[in-house]
Amino acid sequence: MDPIRLTAEERKEMLDRFLRYVRVDTRSDDNSTASPSTPVQKDLSRMLVDELVALGCADAAMDEWGYVFATVPGNLPQGHPAAGTVPTIGLLAHVDTYFGTVGAGVKPVVIDRYDGGDIRLSGDPTQVLRPSEEPNLAACKGHQLVTTDGTTLLGADDKAGVAEIMTAVAWLRAHPEFPHGRVRVAFTTDEEVGRGTEHFDVGAFGAKYAYTLDGSDLGEVEDETFCADSALVVVEGRDVHPGYAKGRMVNAVRAAAALVSRLPEPALPETTEGRQSYLHAYDVRGDVTKVEVKLLVRAFTVEELHEREDSLRAVVAEVEAAFPGVRTTVTVKEQYRNMGFKLAEDPRVMDHAFEAVRRQGLTPSRKAIRGGTDGARLSYMGLLTPNVWAGGQNFHSVREWVSVEWMAAAAETTVALLGVWVEKSIP
Ligand SMILES: [Zn+2]
Repeated sequence: MDPIRLTAEERKEMLDRFLRYVRVDTRSDDNSTASPSTPVQKDLSRMLVDELVALGCADAAMDEWGYVFATVPGNLPQGHPAAGTVPTIGLLAHVDTYFGTVGAGVKPVVIDRYDGGDIRLSGDPTQVLRPSEEPNLAACKGHQLVTTDGTTLLGADDKAGVAEIMTAVAWLRAHPEFPHGRVRVAFTTDEEVGRGTEHFDVGAFGAKYAYTLDGSDLGEVEDETFCADSALVVVEGRDVHPGYAKGRMVNAVRAAAALVSRLPEPALPETTEGRQSYLHAYDVRGDVTKVEVKLLVRAFTVEELHEREDSLRAVVAEVEAAFPGVRTTVTVKEQYRNMGFKLAEDPRVMDHAFEAVRRQGLTPSRKAIRGGTDGARLSYMGLLTPNVWAGGQNFHSVREWVSVEWMAAAAETTVALLGVWVEKSIP
């Protein structure tokens, strides 16, 4: 199979799609309990339904949560050796953008051929993108880039992924000679507020394998996430009038402060990277009588996760000993588990992605996410979903930018991946 290449015209259509989508404000809201958390997300979802219908996906529809589902029927002729065996493949991206940065009034700036120098963002001259600070920017010399004007985010997270999937769908329609199985497309809402799979009906979606296009760097396929627990430590003291407290007061505030300061220094978010685990105290509130300390526990294996929790309990025991009369409880709750454990049950989902990346002439890189993804939750719900690059850089920031070359490569690789699944499904 030759590499898939978008024509100049197809690439321009992809860029036009992207520029159209980023101009729609789809910011989600972490303070809202509604679904979707903001009604504006549906504005983009509606636009995508119309475009999918125009691309021949007759069943494209949006549900009440703002999710868009659509089908590209398979086109294997009867008698094709993979006709009965090739599985349905899902392609996923999210329409919402990060709640913490302005997402309305995005004015994307297209740089047709990046000269490799500093890029001063036109709406805020204090914002300068420097290749000396960003190796990926240096790597994109000569590319067509899209930046912000410095006053809003861009929304390449994840509208780059949306535009790439739409481009793959358009490509399949324009190339009926390219054999592929059934493809299901889903655009979801509220990923940024951690609720992107809350209403996702895996059964109705009808695929066992899917890919989110929501990563960053060219060639990257992510199959691991953290194992995550939360921990709540309640520290109880005894309040007495401070003027008459000698020998009687037990100050939970001081005990909690000691607890936080004794957390092992080498295992904090600010001292770890790569595959290292951490304990993170992120919220402390209370008074002399009672303080609650909330922590995140993160590691790539369950063993290490439990080691971190044991070290927390050891610190708590030290504090109890140092502050006689203080009472403590530690409550640990499971949040999510490493998606890699699930994906390992069926290695084809990663193998085929790497094969497609290689066939496109790119170097695949396997990465572990120091966080969670919608794909992690979906994988545990029965839809194995690694994460593929979409090209965006500096997510969640007014300094967000994307390379159109890397976007095109993601769209092309997505098509190639469908071809690999057909080929590898031949018994
Ligand atoms: Zn994203």
